[in-house]
Formats: sequence, C-alpha cells, structure tokens
Amino acid sequence: MFLLRALIAAAITTILYHIPVRDLRQLLKFTTGIIDGAAVISNLDSTYESHDKFPPKKTPEHFDFVIVGASPSGSVLANRLSEINGWKILLLEAGGDPTGLAEVPLVVATLYPTTYNWGTHAEPQPGFCSGCLDKGARYGHGKGLGGGSIINFMIFVRGNEGDYNKWEEMGNPGWGYRDLLPYFRKLEDASNVTLKDSEYRGRGGPLGVSDVPFRTKLTDVYINAAQQAGFSYVDYNGKQQIGVRTLL
Ligand SMILES: Cc1cc2nc3c(=O)[nH]c(=O)nc-3n(C[C@H](O)[C@H](O)[C@H](O)COP(=O)(O)OP(=O)(O)OC[C@H]3O[C@@H](n4cnc5c(N)ncnc54)[C@H](O)[C@@H]3O)c2cc1C
Repeated sequence: MFLLRALIAAAITTILYHIPVRDLRQLLKFTTGIIDGAAVISNLDSTYESHDKFPPKKTPEHFDFVIVGASPSGSVLANRLSEINGWKILLLEAGGDPTGLAEVPLVVATLYPTTYNWGTHAEPQPGFCSGCLDKGARYGHGKGLGGGSIINFMIFVRGNEGDYNKWEEMGNPGWGYRDLLPYFRKLEDASNVTLKDSEYRGRGGPLGVSDVPFRTKLTDVYINAAQQAGFSYVDYNGKQQIGVRTLL
C-alpha cells in the first residue's frame, strides 16, 4: 500500500513537475499529508505531535535534553539518549513529516522545489554560476523529520581519514580516524556488501548498508573502463577511498 502510494505520488509529481511550487505543495499535501510540525520524543512515550497539536497534551514538566533539528544526527542522538531509563528528551523540528517520496532515492530530486528544502543559496562569487538567475548556486538543505536525509541520495560514504586526523592535530583529541573507526563500525550492518575491507566495516549495527541492487550494462562498461585506466576496484569506506566502485 505504501509503495503504491509512493508510486502514484511520484508519477503525478513527475507529470506536473513544472507547475508552480505552491500548487505542487498542495498536490503533495493532498497525496501524502504534509504537516508543518514539531516532534516530541520521550523514552516513556515516543510520540510525534504536529504543529497544530503543539504543545502536546502529554508534555512533561521538564526535559533533560532539548535537541533542535530532527536531522540524521539529532534523531540518532535523541534515540540513543532515550535508551537511558527515565530521561526525557524533546526533539524539535521546523519542518513536517516527510512524504513517502523521501524514501525513493532518485525521486527525491522532485522534492527540491518544495517545503522539504530550506531553499538556501550560496553567496554569489565572481566567475561561478553566472547562468543562475541570482548568480548563486542553489544549495539543498532538507527541512523535515530526517533533515537532509529526506532529500539526499542515500549514498554511504565516510569522511576521509586524513581529514579526521587533521582535526585531531588541530587540538581535538579523540577525533582521529582510529578513534572514530569503532563507532563507524558499530553503526552499520554491512552484511550485503560484496567487496569490503572487513577490518573497516561493521556487522549487526542499526544502519543497513548494501550494494545498490540495480545496475545497467553501462555500469559494468564504466567500471571496466576505469579499471583499464588503472583504477582499482575498492571498498571506498575501507582502507583506500580512491578507485572505482558501484555505489553503496
Ligand atoms: C541534495 C543533497 C544530497 C546529499 N546526498 C548525500 C548522500 O547521498 N549521502 C550522504 O551520506 N550524504 C548526503 N548528503 C549530505 C547529508 O544529507 C548531510 O550531511 C546530513 O543530512 C547532515 O545532517 P545533520 O545532522 O548535520 O543535519 P541536517 O540534515 O542539516 O538537518 C538539520 C535539521 O534541523 C532542522 N532545523 C534547523 N533549524 C531549526 C530550528 N531553528 N528549529 C527546529 N529545527 C531546525 C532542519 O529543518 C533540519 O531538519 C546530501 C545532502 C544534500 C543537501
């Protein structure tokens, strides 16, 4: 039923992609029920309360933690804190409950002109984006439960080892790659990844990571060509990030 709803909404959105944003929003509102809202989570009673019901009836008298932004980091933080018995956590989000389209990786691009995106722009800079009306690149920033993950492409790429080590060298003990690696491993379940550097990858964590199951013949042609050009086939979340690989 969910898949059917997402497919119908995707088809309608694609056909009407060029209609004005406010109408598109009306359409999405109709098909999926967007609500401008705020989320409230407590470990005793996990609830989502929308804006029109805010403040919620069951508001605790106080919170131990207030987290602003139900983003990938904010949501995980709220979830982990709520594992401690008795702690009360308030998770606030400026946007609403995302439409089912947010779960279809390539369809998310249709959400860019909607209220799921803050619609921010980069500052105009000489020599860049001259073709843009405002001379500044559009810079996507997700707004809603899930933050950027509701408009991103779900590609799983860790930061670069050298960057983390640089953070540490700049005077931040505990932020080196070797310190963070156990947490990277703990969060993922890379059980469906065909080629992986086991020392770097985790099993049994809450975040499933897998090879993209769909590939066209062009993918193999591209990978063969890259290998002939000297690039190794790598696990880009492993020891070596530079090389070629199908997406994870
Ligand atoms: C177009 C696009 C594609 C991307 N593709 C990928 C990808 O394929 N793979 C990948 O790993 N990463 C990708 N990213 C990056 C990834 O989405 C971000 O790194 C990630 O979302 C950052 O998470 P965050 O926790 O820092 O917060 P954000 O995702 O930035 O979320 C912040 C949240 O806080 C809310 N908020 C802000 N101010 C307030 C306020 N005052 N009150 C209440 N709520 C507020 C916002 O509405 C938002 O929901 C992509 C990003 C974009 C924009």
